[in-house]
Amino acid sequence: MNEKLKYFTYSQNSLNTYKSCPFKFKYKYIDNINWKYDDADSREYYDSLKLGREFHLLCERYFSQIPLGNCQNKEFNKWINKIKDLFPIKDENIYLPEYDLRLNLNNKNLIAKVDLVKIKKDSINLWDWKTENREITYKNALNRMQTIVYLFLAEEIIRKNFYPTYDIENISMNYYQPGLENNIITINYNKKLHEENKLKILNLINNIESTDFNNENKINKNLNHCKYCEFNKLCNSEAINYEILEEDIYGS
Ligand code: SF4
Repeated sequence: MNEKLKYFTYSQNSLNTYKSCPFKFKYKYIDNINWKYDDADSREYYDSLKLGREFHLLCERYFSQIPLGNCQNKEFNKWINKIKDLFPIKDENIYLPEYDLRLNLNNKNLIAKVDLVKIKKDSINLWDWKTENREITYKNALNRMQTIVYLFLAEEIIRKNFYPTYDIENISMNYYQPGLENNIITINYNKKLHEENKLKILNLINNIESTDFNNENKINKNLNHCKYCEFNKLCNSEAINYEILEEDIYGS
């Protein structure tokens, strides 16, 4: 195993990066290459991610029940009103915004930062706010590494430790896109999915740790992914199209 992975904490972001292209994982997590703000287009792209983070901050304040502050962005004001309508704060629920879930799984560290964990009297609902305009489908949500890691950690950490009387079927992962109409995608959990998710996570970590990152000839390149990759210029001397770049994840 590469030295840099000895104390590495895996997230849905890093697992997803390896899955999309092992060589990209090397650039990002072994070489620590930061490709941000390289030119005007990338500046625009990363600025839009920053805007996304600002909206997440508004949501965090709302669910923490502290003042939202003076938001100048009209779109965000519209979106946060949608959030307020959809999620009126109720005393009987527990709201945990920007909640970190950390687990040591077979000596591998795993982390997820969830936009909102909402605990109701018989259910555990994870929520993720998506500010991009590209519509997420059920199939896409079901297969996302984010869904796999978040649901797995919710079962292992939240339900098993704090709500063992709840059924695993009452854990759900939900995506909400405030920029689109009525677009909530819900994935319900179950024991079978949990076992499958555990295997997927462990297999992927095993693949990562078996990769010889010191020998570039032995690292797989997924050439189908290049057009979505910020390292396209570095790998293939090709211009990067920020319109179709794979999304980054806010802060995690
Ligand atoms: S440009 Fe292509 S080969 Fe290079 S890291 Fe990105 S996806 Fe992998």
